[in-house]
Amino acid sequence: MDVQELVTWLQERSALSLLNREILEAIASRLEHRRVEAQNMIVTEAKSPEGLYILRSGHLEAESDQLRSYGLLPGSVINLQELLLNKPVRQTLVTLSECELWLIKTEAFNQLVSQYPEISQAFSQQLVEEVEALSSQLVYEQERLLILQPYLVPKARRGIVGRSRYAVRLRSQIKQAAKNRQSVLVFGEPGLEKDNIAALIHFGSSERRKPLIKLDCSTLQTSGSELLGRVGGKPGLIEALGEGTLIFNNVHDLPPELLPVIVNLVRTKTYSPVSRPGEPAAPTKTCEAQIIIVSEKAISELNSIVDNLIKVPPLRVRKADLEDWVKYYISLICRSKGIEKARVTPEALRRLQAYDFPNNLRELRNLVERAIIQLQGGLEITEEIIWPSQTKKKQFRLNLLNTYPGLRHFLRSPWWPDRINYGFTLTAFALIIGVLFFGPQTRSENFALNLFWAWWWPIVLIGFPFLGRVWCAVCPFMIYGEVTQKLSLWLFPRKLKRWPREIAEDWGGWFLFGLFALILLWEELWDLTNTAYLSACLLLLITAGAMIFSALFERRFWCRYLCPIGGMNGMFAKLSMTELRAQQGTCSAECTTYQCYKGGPEKGEGMATNGCPLYSHPAQLEDNRDCVLCMTCLKACPHRSVEFNLRPPGIELWTTHVSRSYEVALLFLMLGAVFLHHLPELQTQLNLPWNLLQPQPHLWISVAALSLPVFIPLLAHLFIQGIRQVFPNFKSCSFVELAYGYLPLVLAGNLAHYLRLGLSEGGRILPVALATFGLDGEGLPVLVAHPAVIGFLQGTVLIFGEITAIILTQKIARQSFKFLLPQHLAIGILTVCLWQVIVGY
Ligand code: SF4
Ligand code: SF4
Ligand code: SF4
Repeated sequence: MDVQELVTWLQERSALSLLNREILEAIASRLEHRRVEAQNMIVTEAKSPEGLYILRSGHLEAESDQLRSYGLLPGSVINLQELLLNKPVRQTLVTLSECELWLIKTEAFNQLVSQYPEISQAFSQQLVEEVEALSSQLVYEQERLLILQPYLVPKARRGIVGRSRYAVRLRSQIKQAAKNRQSVLVFGEPGLEKDNIAALIHFGSSERRKPLIKLDCSTLQTSGSELLGRVGGKPGLIEALGEGTLIFNNVHDLPPELLPVIVNLVRTKTYSPVSRPGEPAAPTKTCEAQIIIVSEKAISELNSIVDNLIKVPPLRVRKADLEDWVKYYISLICRSKGIEKARVTPEALRRLQAYDFPNNLRELRNLVERAIIQLQGGLEITEEIIWPSQTKKKQFRLNLLNTYPGLRHFLRSPWWPDRINYGFTLTAFALIIGVLFFGPQTRSENFALNLFWAWWWPIVLIGFPFLGRVWCAVCPFMIYGEVTQKLSLWLFPRKLKRWPREIAEDWGGWFLFGLFALILLWEELWDLTNTAYLSACLLLLITAGAMIFSALFERRFWCRYLCPIGGMNGMFAKLSMTELRAQQGTCSAECTTYQCYKGGPEKGEGMATNGCPLYSHPAQLEDNRDCVLCMTCLKACPHRSVEFNLRPPGIELWTTHVSRSYEVALLFLMLGAVFLHHLPELQTQLNLPWNLLQPQPHLWISVAALSLPVFIPLLAHLFIQGIRQVFPNFKSCSFVELAYGYLPLVLAGNLAHYLRLGLSEGGRILPVALATFGLDGEGLPVLVAHPAVIGFLQGTVLIFGEITAIILTQKIARQSFKFLLPQHLAIGILTVCLWQVIVGY
């Protein structure tokens, strides 16, 4: 190319066209030709320019830490500003392809500038214009940022968690919507993080560097000016956004006036800024953003016009993803709290699987967070601490604490149960044990023995239908356990062991069943009821269990899993007409401390406690088995969530109950115990030649008495199974579930048995008390019921037990009476047998 051709090229293709021909000829005559291979640096940022470059052919790219990258095309003049202003180079330039360039070295260019001052004049003017353009661009960007700032979404919160086919489909729908950048409707129930799915679409698209804004439709102005802008006023959000992505969140809450605007926007991608009344309508503008609509309800006007529809499945149909979600939330929350990551047990997961999660992921996250707070440094999330709210309504409950504020006051006072326990029971129990060991050995002469068999048993049994497991709140065995625990920690400061829950859940019940069976045999073979020191040994045996396990494990492990009396109490407590529970709504929504469970310092109205001694949470109790009515939770709760309710007796047995096989075994053991206590009557009635004075036959007959009664219910269940074969519509429960139907009868049988002792001997306590100390109590008042009265009361109790057992069976099975006839007959037969041995006529 000669000089003239070069001048023409410069005039036509480069920014030097501002200069006159004479100057261009002077420049052209000094240009040196350069060829540079691809991927070479021709100028380097922050260095002095080598000279002025003019790109003739090829592609260059500018790279800089501060400025955005951009490409340069043929005709670009390089380093002009730097040479005129005598500054270092602003950006590194790299050849993307082989490039041809012209170069005027710095010295030669400076000579030209001094020779032709028009060069600097022309380009100074251009520089001023550029600076003006840049600053107005900057002002516009700042204004735009100010408008968008409150709505900007910087990133997606998380990806799609899970491996189910629903999760896979969701991922592919997001990918598709991100690729085509057309309108999307994300639709689903509350709590499914639909706005996060919208964000994933944006950040998965090619426009991920453009802004993403989220508008909450419930707060949009009905005039639409915030969204569309005003004629002559500041730009609306759509204009300020430009090519980004616009999420209309909660579109079901959109003001109705704006629905046609959104429909038009989705359909035509155009809108008109809002004009004042009387002014002509503003010309339409084009929306360059991708529009994503998020809704909880179907909106027919939008459903039909969007290009992509994503239906987000609720958590209850994605149960396969539940484990992944739980683990994800555990890591997230543990990381944010800076604690070691916890593990979730399979039982806990199973419990969650059975729940429907009406509030979906939001609810699951709250649940995991609550469980982690309750962990107290533990590393295992068990089913006791991760519990969903129950969906069943709390029907037929009357909170006695609200009805009788005095009761609340008493139960929160130090009197219940600490002052009773430490002020009275502790000493009284020691005294009773002493009297049993050192006093006379028969019931007619030892008041402690009389108290145990003729008072304690009937009172505890009568108490179950009214106050459940209340005995355990004032039980002396455990008071000694608590004393041992405190004393041993004081003497040997250490951290008590955590509960081996899995083993205890599997085997604890069977341990207490076995111990109870041995105690019953011991009682029968060694005549404990009439041998004071052996009765004392029995009491000490249970106390020793409580003391040993309290010294080893934290809280009341013995009471929760191992105590035979506790097992019986927990079982019969299910029939109670009262219950202690907490309001699940309050616990889930308001509580962050869970002091009822964990314990802790005073907070608001909540007192300082060590937390539930049984590691039960009052809001998750499904039956009375695991609550000893100690009222620790009532004292600890700062939110008045704990209730003490009056309820239909035993309602949990046909609503929330979970059956346990060891408990059913214990139930029939208690049934057998009634027959065991009446072996002489059985012998007479059946006219059998038993020799109960010989230990070995006595032992075998006792074992038979304990175990044979269960065969009647088993036979009845076989018949029920037979009926099921004939009537396929009849859905029968398992034996373990239906067996709880016998519970009222078993309680009635035991009560009827102990009524005789209570009503014939209990009233002799005063003369017996004197006889204990070798004094003559003749003449002291005695209250003894007539045998006919006792018989009448025993019979009434048995009939009441029979009727309630039949009703309970119906309630548990929820089947027609005729299908359950075998069990009803079994209840009838057992009632007759019990009547025969207890009442006797
Ligand atoms: S479970 Fe046993 S030791 Fe514990 S409080 Fe109840 S009766 Fe007493
Ligand atoms: S009972 Fe009270 S302390 Fe316990 S979780 Fe509920 S509100 Fe919190
Ligand atoms: S739930 Fe409450 S009343 Fe029941 S044992 Fe636990 S702390 Fe005591």
